[in-house]
Amino acid sequence: PPDVEQMGRATWTFLHTTAAYYPEKPSPTHRANMLLLLKAIPLLYACTHCADDFGKDIAVNPPDVSSRTGLSRWLCERHNEVNTKLGKARFDCSLNSTDERWKDGPAD
Ligand code: FAD
Repeated sequence: PPDVEQMGRATWTFLHTTAAYYPEKPSPTHRANMLLLLKAIPLLYACTHCADDFGKDIAVNPPDVSSRTGLSRWLCERHNEVNTKLGKARFDCSLNSTDERWKDGPAD
């Protein structure tokens, strides 16, 4: 079976970084492909119980692929759902916080 923790860290890194560099004004092609990427997770993610729960969550909370800001917040909120389920601390989903962690690094 997959290592759920290491695959989770790698996947969140990929997804949050991709959201942080997604266009503020995405083209229709960008939007459609981001939607496909996110909707593929419930089908393909190798932790099947994780995939099932994520599918239920995004059915209730559909992906916001309208902008970098919207997508970064939406994804942060989905990650917080998992954090809460696992008893982990929730993350501050303001753009400043997600950008500091996934785009700009801490201010010096
Ligand atoms: P992670 O949760 O992997 O986070 C990595 C880093 O992201 C953190 O160190 C922090 O800097 C940052 N971060 C934390 N929260 C946020 C946030 N809300 N927004 C932005 N950045 C943040 N594991 C299970 O055991 N059961 C599950 O059902 C499950 N479902 C998952 C579903 C998906 C779609 C994914 C991608 C992973 C899932 N995981 C699940 C794995 C789990 O979320 C963690 O990745 C794993 O437990 C390792 O946790 P971690 O404490 O190292 O940090």
